[in-house]
Amino acid sequence: MYQSSRNEAIRAKASAAILQGLAKDGGLFVPKEFPKLEIHQEKYRTMSYKDFATEILSLYLDDFSRKEIETCVELAYTANFETEEVVPVQKAGGLFFIELFHGKTLAFKDLALSILPHLMLSSKRKNGEQKKILIMTATSGDTGKAALEAFQDIEDIKIVVYYPDKGVSDMQKQQMLTQRGENLCVYAISGNFDDAQSAVKRAMTGETFNKSISDRGYLLSSANSINIGRLIPQIVYYFTSYFKLVQKNEIVQGEEINIVVPTGNFGNILAAYYAKKMGLPVHKLICASNKNKILADFFTNGGTYDTKRNFYTTGSPSMDILISSNFERALYHASGGDCTLVAEKMKELKEQGVYRFPIDEFAEMKNFAGEYADEEESGAELKRMFEDAHYLIDPHTAVAVSAYRKYLKKNPDKRKVLIASTASPFKFPAFVLEALGHGTDPKEAPFDTLRRLENLTGIQIPKALAETEHLEKRFGSLIDAGHLEESIFRFLDEKHEREHE
Ligand SMILES: *Cc1c(COP(=O)(O)O)cnc(C)c1O
Repeated sequence: MYQSSRNEAIRAKASAAILQGLAKDGGLFVPKEFPKLEIHQEKYRTMSYKDFATEILSLYLDDFSRKEIETCVELAYTANFETEEVVPVQKAGGLFFIELFHGKTLAFKDLALSILPHLMLSSKRKNGEQKKILIMTATSGDTGKAALEAFQDIEDIKIVVYYPDKGVSDMQKQQMLTQRGENLCVYAISGNFDDAQSAVKRAMTGETFNKSISDRGYLLSSANSINIGRLIPQIVYYFTSYFKLVQKNEIVQGEEINIVVPTGNFGNILAAYYAKKMGLPVHKLICASNKNKILADFFTNGGTYDTKRNFYTTGSPSMDILISSNFERALYHASGGDCTLVAEKMKELKEQGVYRFPIDEFAEMKNFAGEYADEEESGAELKRMFEDAHYLIDPHTAVAVSAYRKYLKKNPDKRKVLIASTASPFKFPAFVLEALGHGTDPKEAPFDTLRRLENLTGIQIPKALAETEHLEKRFGSLIDAGHLEESIFRFLDEKHEREHE
């Protein structure tokens, strides 16, 4: 059912695609076609999150039995989220927020990462794979922690996380560096997220490196959204959120809505696109960028993707990305599966830092619209939502709301809108306080900043965050992006020695 976005001849069943993460030629696995859901069925109105997840995953995981999927879903969505609802939808200021931050690490990455280890272990069994799994993950802040938490002490899997030294918030760093577990480790990389992501991709496709890893008894995989096992579970909440609107009589079943997603690596919005292709009634998928507005520019300038620009470190660090990995999948689908074209564009991107994909020639791209919000605009939006609607949002979600308002000015639209609310505001207390007009002293201890936010808003600090304050920091050595391989060998060999003592 899956093939590489760059070469039709490289094919895989779901379990093999999940195990490999990235296709051998550096392309991303894409489904050859989209399964359809009959959206008018009455049963969807009251279906639980878990049942919906089973329904959707069954359509995509071609070589998994329903029983296997049910087991994975049970393990992932029973105890790891605050409520049985898993993903609540909150109405505020006339907008509907898909609250994706009620998992263990307070960001939307928990939704897919809670299930990924179970999908991987099933895939491993299914493929008779004797080797252990080694996961390498680059993070712009939230993936790292969610992956560490999800894979902690899972047998036969080890995980190494790389984050950009100066590119994550204090709280994100605190969460990662205090992570417990014996099968994992975390490094800082000098450079930005793009450097980290490219280095990981480079290592993962290196033949000699793969061989050395294999000789040590491991198979390389990825927990980034380049892994199809990350992407598919994200489709689920777009459906459940839509049907929550139906349940609440905000829309009638079948009515079109718009969806806004604060975007970095284009994974979350791509999942919304997959939902649309499966039959979810969506008019526009609005891709919201922060000051690193390469994607917003692509959609407004007719299709030029140009990385030759400044990289900014912003208050929404998980969107500080110029090389948006999953956009490759969008190119694949929009070009009607033209692998040669996709491979060409990716080559241009790598060699020249720019490519052109004329939107007018690829009408499928018109499912998307792009807008952006800079630091000031998103800060002002955060304040407005808190003061006018008594709803506290995080900086990424603020980018989405602000970008949506700009979109509306240009494209008046009465459709109801779902906004992906991707993280808890408490992961970014400095930006949030600043936006609310209570600036921070850079010398203030991060947890004091957190407590000030709690006092100001009357909203309790999430327990998962409060708990990390007094935990020992275990990781964080700084390495060069050119030396990932060595860090892996050191980690594996050290563990090996310890296990044999
Ligand atoms: C990862 C992340 C994003 C960006 O999501 P993509 O799937 O990479 O586009 C936005 N907001 C938050 C809080 C995130 O953690």
